Amino acid sequence: MNEHDSERISGLLESDGYEQTSATDDADVIVLNTCCIRENADNKLYGALGNLKELKESKPDLQIAVAGCLAQKDKNLIQNKASHVDVVFGTHNVHRATELLSEARVNGPITEIWDEASDDFEEFASALPAKRESEFMAWLTIQVGCDNNCAFCIVPSVRGKEISRPVEDIVAEAKVQAASGVSEITLLGQNVNSYGRDLSLQERRDGQDVKIRPKFADLLREVGAIEGVRRVRYTSPHPKDMNIDVYQAMEETPTVVPHLHFPLQSGSDSILAAMHRGYTGEKFLEKLALARQTITDLAVSTDIIVGFPGETDDDFERTLEIASAAEFDNAYTFVFSPRAGTEAAEMTEKFCDPDVVQDRYKRLKTVVDRSSLAKNLARVGRTEEVVVEGPSKKDPNFLTGRTVHNKVVHFPVEKFKPGTYVEVKITEARKQYLLGELVRKVASPTYKTKITVEAA
Ligand code: SF4
Repeated sequence: MNEHDSERISGLLESDGYEQTSATDDADVIVLNTCCIRENADNKLYGALGNLKELKESKPDLQIAVAGCLAQKDKNLIQNKASHVDVVFGTHNVHRATELLSEARVNGPITEIWDEASDDFEEFASALPAKRESEFMAWLTIQVGCDNNCAFCIVPSVRGKEISRPVEDIVAEAKVQAASGVSEITLLGQNVNSYGRDLSLQERRDGQDVKIRPKFADLLREVGAIEGVRRVRYTSPHPKDMNIDVYQAMEETPTVVPHLHFPLQSGSDSILAAMHRGYTGEKFLEKLALARQTITDLAVSTDIIVGFPGETDDDFERTLEIASAAEFDNAYTFVFSPRAGTEAAEMTEKFCDPDVVQDRYKRLKTVVDRSSLAKNLARVGRTEEVVVEGPSKKDPNFLTGRTVHNKVVHFPVEKFKPGTYVEVKITEARKQYLLGELVRKVASPTYKTKITVEAA
């Protein structure tokens, strides 16, 4: 969500006449878009602002803006701590970025934080231009905010209550994206399974007007049917709200990829209850088994936190058991670190011994790495469709791409533009990636390459 906000801020600035630069010294505007999900976001922000102070002194017309959830949380504190900041805006008024910069140029420093998102989606989602990092992949916001209260998570307090975006807006934006050459769309929400709870659709049934709630499963089907869209992903679902409708939509819609990110967080029922996650370890495994029964060749990734306050050795053993039984393709593992403003950050008397947590973390890594490697080895010998992302960052003799299962594949370099779909025969597997050989090209990218035209 934060990265997508950065794209939107970038797009707004570009439509206001700015150009992107990689040289900080050349910039007329610098926007620091913060994310307090990340560890030490405040230290990093104030460190970066300290480094920019000298530049601002030597270049007084430079404008510095701070955006994102740390700005939402810290409000006036930012300009109190760093008076050289021109504009502070939060997560709910991203669309005001360029106006605020203009106002600050005339009237001096501004902090503008909205407590809630506007219900008018024209203002803050589809209508905003976005400068996408990729020509062929795009994020598509379907919902903002979150009505859950996971004890470790800062999102509800900085992103506000859940608001779903109307189906027709989402589908319209997806069509525009597809028409501009986007072939892979990721639907983005904090809890996509609760999409539509706050919306109702008018429908005529048996001669009567009835109101029904739009469902996430139907949205998957609609976006998946748009011409030009080859892959639809989504993030993130919540295990407590996941249901068979979504699995069936994934199975029945060929463009919706067979990859599920299913955040476990912990395997211990008492820790899951303390986190307010709304499911038990057994329930998680049941829902996962149903997903695997319903969706052909499903890959599953997850998030797991180690050392949540109060986690005992027995709790952790349960996490190992559930993680092992779940046989994840990939797991993002984190050591618990308190986020100011969350319930878990207040549980200081229950914080775990850091050495014990490090040891648990290593043991968990061993378990999840073992299943990642086993899952990747099982793909050796298969031919997979891969979308080319570009040259490998480590070895220019290889191209890097991704399979439908979101697995990274490296294969010997060929002249393919990013966004080309190819088939690759998988020859080797490591725990984090696959190696392969090109079989054939499947489809060219459909986005247009911009050519600069200069006056003679
Ligand atoms: S569902 Fe996700 S975004 Fe919402 S509170 Fe829980 S972890 Fe945070």
